[in-house]
Amino acid sequence: MAGLVFTLLVIAAAMALAMHRAPLWLWAAAGVAALMAWQSGLFVGQYDVPRPGLLGVLAWVPVVVLGLLSLPALRRSLVVEPAFRMVKGILPKVSETEQQALDAGTVGFDAELFSGQPDWNKLRAVPAIHLTDEERAFLEGPTDELCRMIDDWQIRFREKEIPEEIWDFVKQHGFLGMLISKAHGGLGFSAQAQSLILGKIASRSPDVSTIVMVPNSLGPGELIEKYGTDEQKHYYLPRLARGEEVPCFSLTGPTSGSDAATMRDIGTVTNGMHEGKETIGIRLSWDKRYITLGPKATLVGLAFRLFDPDNRLGRGEDLGITVALIPADHTGVNIGRRHLPSGAAFPNGPNWGKDVFIPLEFVIGGEKMVGQGWRMLMECLSAGRAISLPSSATAGAKSMLRFTSAYARIRKQFGLPISHMEGIEEPLTRMIEAAYVNEAARAVTASMVARGEKPSVISALMKYTTTERMRQSVNDAMDIHGGRAICDGPTNYLQSAYQMVPVGITVEGANILTRTLITFAQGALRAHPYLYKEVQAAQNPDARAGLEAFEKAFNGHIAFSLSNASGALFHNLTGGLFGDVPEKAYGTAEWYRQLWRASRSFALVSDLTVALLGGGLKTKQRLTGRMADALSELYMLACVLKRYEDDGKPAGDRLIVELAARNALYRFQQALGGVIDNFPVAPARYLMRALVFPLGRRMKPASDRLARQVAKLALEPGEVRDRLTRDIFVSRDVNDPTGLLEVTLDKVIAALPAEKKLEKAIRDGKVRRYHGIDWFADAVDQGVITEVEAGQLREVERLVARVIAVDHFDPAEVKPNYAPVGHNSGAANTFAAA
Ligand SMILES: Cc1cc2nc3c(=O)[nH]c(=O)nc-3n(C[C@H](O)[C@H](O)[C@H](O)COP(=O)(O)OP(=O)(O)OC[C@H]3O[C@@H](n4cnc5c(N)ncnc54)[C@H](O)[C@@H]3O)c2cc1C
Repeated sequence: MAGLVFTLLVIAAAMALAMHRAPLWLWAAAGVAALMAWQSGLFVGQYDVPRPGLLGVLAWVPVVVLGLLSLPALRRSLVVEPAFRMVKGILPKVSETEQQALDAGTVGFDAELFSGQPDWNKLRAVPAIHLTDEERAFLEGPTDELCRMIDDWQIRFREKEIPEEIWDFVKQHGFLGMLISKAHGGLGFSAQAQSLILGKIASRSPDVSTIVMVPNSLGPGELIEKYGTDEQKHYYLPRLARGEEVPCFSLTGPTSGSDAATMRDIGTVTNGMHEGKETIGIRLSWDKRYITLGPKATLVGLAFRLFDPDNRLGRGEDLGITVALIPADHTGVNIGRRHLPSGAAFPNGPNWGKDVFIPLEFVIGGEKMVGQGWRMLMECLSAGRAISLPSSATAGAKSMLRFTSAYARIRKQFGLPISHMEGIEEPLTRMIEAAYVNEAARAVTASMVARGEKPSVISALMKYTTTERMRQSVNDAMDIHGGRAICDGPTNYLQSAYQMVPVGITVEGANILTRTLITFAQGALRAHPYLYKEVQAAQNPDARAGLEAFEKAFNGHIAFSLSNASGALFHNLTGGLFGDVPEKAYGTAEWYRQLWRASRSFALVSDLTVALLGGGLKTKQRLTGRMADALSELYMLACVLKRYEDDGKPAGDRLIVELAARNALYRFQQALGGVIDNFPVAPARYLMRALVFPLGRRMKPASDRLARQVAKLALEPGEVRDRLTRDIFVSRDVNDPTGLLEVTLDKVIAALPAEKKLEKAIRDGKVRRYHGIDWFADAVDQGVITEVEAGQLREVERLVARVIAVDHFDPAEVKPNYAPVGHNSGAANTFAAA
C-alpha cells in the first residue's frame, strides 16, 4: 500500500511539474527528494516495494543527468547545439513566395488553441457585433431596397446577366466602394458591416452578391487603398467608389490555378511608347481565365512575373510577382468573352494580351512596389478571405434554413407535415446547427478583422469550413424539398444557391487545398508558440544570434511538450473536470471545460505531428486535413460560446448550443482519433493514444432526443427562428416565392385548431375530401368548423397549392438563350496555344 501511495505521489508530482513547465533544476531537485524518500525506507512496507538494490543505484542516473543539464553551458553543448544543427539540416527550403505567405497576416485566437491553454479573455475581448448608425441604416435601407429589386429568375435565366438597373443602383449607392475609405469617396464601412451587407444580398441572389463582393474583396480597390501611389489613390479610388470604374482582378491562368505563384505571365522592363512619348515601362504577355467581372471590367488588376534583363531598375534580373492596373481599353488587352460558370449570370471570363506595353506608373504603388505583388496579395487575402466567402456561405446556410423549415412545415405527405418525420428532422437539425455555427464564427471573425487583425490561419479555416457547411445545407434543403427544388423556374428559390455552391467551394483557395495544405501546415508554423521561432532562428544567417534565439525557443518548446503530455493525460483522465472556465460562464461552463480539454489534446498531437513529420507534412494530407478539421471544430465551438454570451444567452438557444457543442466535440474526437490511428510513427501513435484516449473515445454526438427538440425550434415562426436566420432578407410579399412561404407558414400555424377539427371529421367519415366536393362547406354545414374557420382553411389551401406548385413552360419559351456561335475552348483564343 505504501508503495502504491509513493508511486502515485511520484506520478502526481511529475505531472504537476510538467504541467507547470518547471525548470530542469526543479525536476532534478524533485528527483533527489523522491529517491531519498524511497531509499530511506519511508514508503517500504512488509509486502511492498523491495528495498533499493542495483535499481536504487541506477535510479540516480536520470536525476544526475537532469541536474547536469540544468547547467546552461552543458545543456547548450550537449543538447541545444546538436538539435540546432539537426533542425538546420532537415529544414526544407522555404521559397520566397512561401515565406511571404507565412509572413502575411496575423496570429490571434488561433494561437490560443494551439497553446493547449486558451486564454478565454482573448476570446471575450473580441467585440460583439457592432454597426454604426450609418452602417445599420445602409443594411436596412439601400440593401433591403436592392434585395427587393432582385428577380433571381430574370437574372439567371431570362437575361443571363445582371440587369442594368441593378448595376446602376449598386454604383449609385456606393456598394462597390464599401471598403474604400471615406477620404477617398468610399463608404469606409467596417468589416462587420461589409460582411452583413454582402450576406443579406447573397441571401437574395448569389449573382448580385458576387458583383458587390469582388470590388470589395482582394482586388484593385483594396490594393490601391493599401499600396497605391498618391496619384493612383486620388484618381482611381473615388472613381471605383462611384462605380465609374468596374474592376476585376486577374491572377489565375491555365497553368496557374491553386499554385498561382507559378504563373507564366511575364513582363520585361523595357522602353516603349505611351501616349506618344517614349518611356520606361513593361512589355507584357499574359493569359488569364475565370476572372470575375472581367467581361464588364474597365480596369484590369493583373498579376505577372517581372524580369529586368538589362537591370534598368538596378534590382537584378528576376524582380518577382508584380501587380499592375491596366485600363481594359488599353491597346492589346483582350477582354470581354465570357465563361458560363455553373449557370450563374455574374460576368466571368478570360483575358489575355501579347507584348502589350504599359508604363511603370501602371504598377500598383509605382516603381517601389515592383516585385512586391505576392506579399501584397497574401496580406490582403488574409483579411478578405475571412469576410467574403464566410459571409455568403453563412447567408446561404441561414436562408436555406429559413426557406426549408417553412416548406417542411407546410408540405404534407401521409397526412402529416413532412417536418414531423424523423427522416426529415435529421437534415433539418443539421441545417439549424450550420446556420447557428456559421453565423457565430462569421460574426467573431468579422469583428477580429474590423479591429485590424488579418487572421491568416483563421481565414483559411473559415473559408473551407463555412462553405462546406453551406454545401451540406444546400444539399439538405434540396433533399427536403424533393422534386419541388429540382425543377427550375421563377418559383424555385433554391436553384441559384445549388448551382453556385461549387463556385464558393473553388474560389479564394479551393477547399481541398485550403483544408489539407494551408490551414494546419500554416497554422502549425504560425500559431504554434515556439515552432516558427525555432525555424526562423535556424534560418538566421548570423549563426550565433540564431543559436541564442533557437535555445530560448527550444527550451520553451521542451517544457511546452511535457506540459501538453501531462496536461492532456490529466484532463482526459478527469473528463475535463478541471478545465479552465472563464468568469460568469453560467450554462456554458461544461463546454468551456471540454474545449479546454480538447485544446490540450490538440496541442499535444499537433506538436508531435509537426516534430515527427516535419517537411513530410505537405504530403501527409490525410493527416493534415484531419488536423485542420480538429482545429476548425475548436474554433467554431469557441465562437458558438461567444455568440451565445454576446446574444445574452437567450433561453431558446440553449439547446442549439448544447447540440452544437456535443457534435463539435464528437467530430473533434473523430478527427483527432483519425490522425492518431493513422500516424505513421508507431511509438508516437501508442503514446498519443494513451495520453489522448486513456479511457477510450467517450464523446458522443447529440442524442436523437436533443436533436428532435432542436428541430422543433425552427418550425414555428418566432424569435428562435428569426435569430437563427438573422440579417438575411426576408420577404413578406406573396408574389415573391420566398415571401409566399413566410405568409403561408403563418397562416398554416394560425389555422391549426380549425384544421384539427376538420381532419378528425374526415377521419371519422363525417366529411369526405375528394375532387368535386366542397368539404369546407360540408364541414360548416355539419357544425364541425365555423364560417370564419372555413375561410381560414380555404385561404391556407390556396396558399399551400401555390407553395407546392412547380413551374412548367412552353418549349419555345425555354430554348437556350445563348446562340451557339463564337464558341471556342479557350485555348484557341489565347496566344499561348497559338
Ligand atoms: C467562378 C469562378 C470565379 C473566379 N474568379 C477569379 C477571379 O476573379 N480572379 C482570379 O484570379 N481567379 C478567379 N478564379 C480562379 C480560382 O481562384 C481558381 O479556380 C482556384 O484557385 C483553383 O484553381 P483551378 O480551378 O485551376 O484548380 P486546380 O488548381 O487545378 O485544382 C484542382 C483541385 O486540386 C486541388 N489541389 C491543387 N493543389 C493541391 C495541393 N497541393 N494539395 C491538395 N489539393 C490540391 C484543389 O483544391 C482542387 O480541388 C475563379 C474561379 C471560378 C471557378
